Amino acid sequence: MPDRPVARPATMSGNGAIIDIDRRENGWTVRFASEPRTSPQPLWFNIEVEGIDGETVHFVWENPDTTLGPSSELDQIRPVLRCDDGEWSRCEAVEVARLPDGRARLHFSAGASRGTVQAAFCYPYAPPNLEQTLQETGDAWERSVIGVTGQGRPLWRLRSKRGSEEDNRPGLYLLARQHAGETPGSWVLDGILQFLADDPDGFAEQLDCWAVPFVDLDGVIAGDYGKDALPQDFNRSWEALPMRPEVHAIMADFRRFAACASPRLAIDLHGPGHATPGIYVQLPREQRPREHRMLAESFAQALAPLFPELDAGTIARPTTYPSRWNALATVGSWVWDSIGTLLATVETSYQRIGDRPLTPEGYRDAGRRVVRAAWSWLQHHGS
Ligand SMILES: [Zn+2]
Repeated sequence: MPDRPVARPATMSGNGAIIDIDRRENGWTVRFASEPRTSPQPLWFNIEVEGIDGETVHFVWENPDTTLGPSSELDQIRPVLRCDDGEWSRCEAVEVARLPDGRARLHFSAGASRGTVQAAFCYPYAPPNLEQTLQETGDAWERSVIGVTGQGRPLWRLRSKRGSEEDNRPGLYLLARQHAGETPGSWVLDGILQFLADDPDGFAEQLDCWAVPFVDLDGVIAGDYGKDALPQDFNRSWEALPMRPEVHAIMADFRRFAACASPRLAIDLHGPGHATPGIYVQLPREQRPREHRMLAESFAQALAPLFPELDAGTIARPTTYPSRWNALATVGSWVWDSIGTLLATVETSYQRIGDRPLTPEGYRDAGRRVVRAAWSWLQHHGS
């Protein structure tokens, strides 16, 4: 064992520039910063510190005030920690230090451990997590390769094996991780995959569900944040001639889905700004056709009663923020214009829904509610 700890980005989905490690009373201080990688603006971090000998590790995050979201809300952020390959848990408290030059730092601590401490912005979710869920759900999901990523990895799509082979069942197409660091989307999807395998409500056999669990699979494995990723944001690449091979592959798959499922709904799962609470539907921009925007509103209305702890008025949010690329070249625009189907963009907090800090199980519960809303919506609005 080294006489001082070693800190580095985690092996899977790792991200973090280590600045220094210093001895302090009863432990060590690890100073680090989120790496922007392919994005102009950083957010995601996932680092591990090895060689702890029963001491406390104090983490100092050096660049939280340059990440997506208001600096005034940094005190709402609760990173997650795990010791010695145990369960992840959310920090109960953080301290925001405002420096004389105007910068902000976020301090948080891990309790005493023997061995390794890992700290991440939110619960990591990578291919091994999905693998575990697919094993636990037995034979419920069929895996197909629908393309190859930019770095040469097979791009997977899941399809529920429940129900008949018949065409023209109601269909749901799910996407997660167009932005690689937005792990809340994956935990919500995880809940949906488990729910449809267990089928407690008895509608899974009637639903033809398809899912691409990691759109930016290379970014997920590398630990990229991936929002506004160069050369082009995944969710601004849905042009007639897309710039991303993954998008090109998923477009072809969407057409297969459209050929056999009816009525149809698609949902794209994301994470919002660093401290934004709750869950909500990011509505199509006002330049989009009125019918498109109205149907997206109707999905938000289907979702609202399933989240009684939230103010119903917060479930649908207009999209007005600036974009580095063609703001209308989103998956939602493409799915509407090309296959005549609503795609609802659902954003789930990195932090909490209502007063409850989100856990993996809390995210799965949100997923169960999202898929119930989807089923209800398909009964009334499906196109
Ligand atoms: Zn996103």
